[in-house]
Amino acid sequence: MGLSTHKLFFKKGQQVFKVGDKADCAYIVESGTINLFAVSQQDDLIASLGQGELLGEMGVIDQSKRSVSAFAASDLELLVIDREQITKRLEKSDPIIRGVMEVLLRRIRNMLGTVHEFDEVTSISDHTDNSIVTEGLDKIRFEKELHQALEKGDINNVYQPMVCLKSGKIAGFEALSRWNHPEKGMISPFEFITLAEESDLIKTMGLQIFDSACKQLAIFQKVRDEIDKTLPALFMSINVSAAQLTASNFFADIYEITQNYGIEPSNIKIEITESLVVDYKKIKVWIDDCRNMGFKLSLDDFGTGYSGFQHLLELDFHTIKIDQAFTMSIETNPKSLIMLEVITDMAKRMNMSVVAEGIEDLECANKLKNIGVDYAQGYYFFKPISAAEILPFL
Ligand code: C2E
Ligand code: CA
Ligand code: CA
Repeated sequence: MGLSTHKLFFKKGQQVFKVGDKADCAYIVESGTINLFAVSQQDDLIASLGQGELLGEMGVIDQSKRSVSAFAASDLELLVIDREQITKRLEKSDPIIRGVMEVLLRRIRNMLGTVHEFDEVTSISDHTDNSIVTEGLDKIRFEKELHQALEKGDINNVYQPMVCLKSGKIAGFEALSRWNHPEKGMISPFEFITLAEESDLIKTMGLQIFDSACKQLAIFQKVRDEIDKTLPALFMSINVSAAQLTASNFFADIYEITQNYGIEPSNIKIEITESLVVDYKKIKVWIDDCRNMGFKLSLDDFGTGYSGFQHLLELDFHTIKIDQAFTMSIETNPKSLIMLEVITDMAKRMNMSVVAEGIEDLECANKLKNIGVDYAQGYYFFKPISAAEILPFL
């Protein structure tokens, strides 16, 4: 880190800063000793720091006020590290590094917080937590592998059919990504999507997933047409993360993909998870873009958060997707079935269709059919499987 050459000199006994001061810089002790106290008076000594030690960095990083007071214990020379020298680099740094830093800070604060909130005494070398560093490095390695996997084509989609409960026929699919790792085998998206979201990888990966899903839908549709042309068009649901939506050309890119494969955007459902919808103003713009291009939108994992109903009030979705935990709860809690019936009725009146996820047995499927749920997705019908395995069922 390039350090400022700005130095400060203090005579023995002089105050350097006190509890509650703004933490706008950190220091390195160039010579002499500095004493840190829990309160502004010079009692309750917490630590003495000498040459080469760092102080005041935590308040700079997490923008808290000084929580200790510092006095020169001898004639003292301090090198000033300006706030920007740290924060600017931190902003530009890899999310992994920032993440590690945050975890580290939180841990240190928790550790120290039980005694005093004396954030300023933390000389980094004192508290290096090796497990976090290892964790960070593992993550970096994993991210690199993910990058290569994407280039090598080891990230693929499996497809889980959604069944129309009225006709019993396959109506559409959800594309679910899988990482086929040469040593570790199949890796779940739970393990790599978040990682991809943290770096910018999700944008490339998302488009690749979108591309294969559209390509596959065109094939499924062709096969279906050969069997029965009168059935409704098949649809493909594709999960999209916030980081993808915020990319400025996202909708133009996905529109182009649909055109490449001769897919109607209206047969593509973009699944947005309930917890992702936080900023209505922002998401309204996306939803408008989405609608203007003809794509459909599905509110995923409905019923898991507290804001699902608010989303339905504020935003226009084409489909509600009932979260699997909610679906499964109808087995044990009769109130769940009543709620689901009301939600389904409400959805119909708002011109939305309803998909229920996580159907694992016939009894559950029948209950959902009886209350008017449109589509069912779950292990009872199909697990997520390869495109080739789906073909005979079309
Ligand atoms: P999700 O969108 O809620 O997907 C449904 C998950 O439930 C899938 O897990 C699916 O395999 C599983 N599932 C389906 N039917 C049943 C069932 O009857 N019982 C049980 N217990 N589980 C069932 P999967 O494939 O591991 O995906 C996990 C999550 O990863 C997805 O949750 C989705 O949020 C995310 N994801 C998957 N693919 C992508 C992708 O391409 N892009 C993005 N952004 N996220 C993805
Ligand atoms: Ca989904
Ligand atoms: Ca879901």
